[in-house]
Amino acid sequence: MAATNNEQEQENQLIGHKDLAHKSLLQSDALYQYILETSVFPREHESLKELREMTEKHPRNLMATPPDEGQLVSMLLKLINAKNTIEIGVYTGYSLLSTALALPHDGKVLAMDVNREYYELGLPIIQKAGVEHKIDFREGPALPLLDQMLKDEKKKGSFDFVFVDADKNNYLNYHKRVIELVKIGGVIGYDNTLWCGSVVAPPNAPLKGYIKQFRGDIMELNNYLANDSRIEICQIPIGDGVTLCRRII
Ligand code: SAH
Ligand code: CA
Repeated sequence: MAATNNEQEQENQLIGHKDLAHKSLLQSDALYQYILETSVFPREHESLKELREMTEKHPRNLMATPPDEGQLVSMLLKLINAKNTIEIGVYTGYSLLSTALALPHDGKVLAMDVNREYYELGLPIIQKAGVEHKIDFREGPALPLLDQMLKDEKKKGSFDFVFVDADKNNYLNYHKRVIELVKIGGVIGYDNTLWCGSVVAPPNAPLKGYIKQFRGDIMELNNYLANDSRIEICQIPIGDGVTLCRRII
């Protein structure tokens, strides 16, 4: 038993374990609970709640967008009057359903994921919410799909919003493409840009495998975005960090 406890303790000390437990980079669990209970849960759409609770039982549920971040995406889409959007990385669809609910009746979200089975877990709930008609789901790796879209001149500069939340080692490759697909004045959101806080971990810090694996990619992206004169940026410490980029040229 003692050995098990010790292992558990060591595991808890790894960056990327405890931090993700409350799905926020806030220092206090109580403060995060306060935010959820006061401002998020009472306003969460019943279908989003159902999808969130269904996803909580899935073994890969750490990937899901937390509800406070879903609320931010929804608010942002309404503020910019978004009609035409892209989502890269769907999983069971929490951010996708937040998007579909926030778009107007004739709005469209082009959603890409390599894994259709994840999407299909949430699909019955999306259908029940009455917003499936706004979603165009494409199964497959996102890069070739984006390259295909870029061959169509009419698609360039035609999107109001792009949410990037898939394979972190490709974020820079996504940026090179979605910057051309989003319109001037439109917004790209990159998710997980604080990578469980590991962006400031000392060189010898103990990191969980997947945190260590993509930490460099996230840091490279953050530096690239900070120096990209085509965009204005805002790093928001919600969830695991979201960087909003507004295309200006
Ligand atoms: N936005 C989701 C979470 C996405 S998790 C939510 O709100 O819950 C990351 C997703 O990216 C996974 O579903 C994974 O299947 C997908 N993914 C990984 N590599 C990909 C790629 N190359 N192209 C498209 N999707 C990919
Ligand atoms: Ca994410």
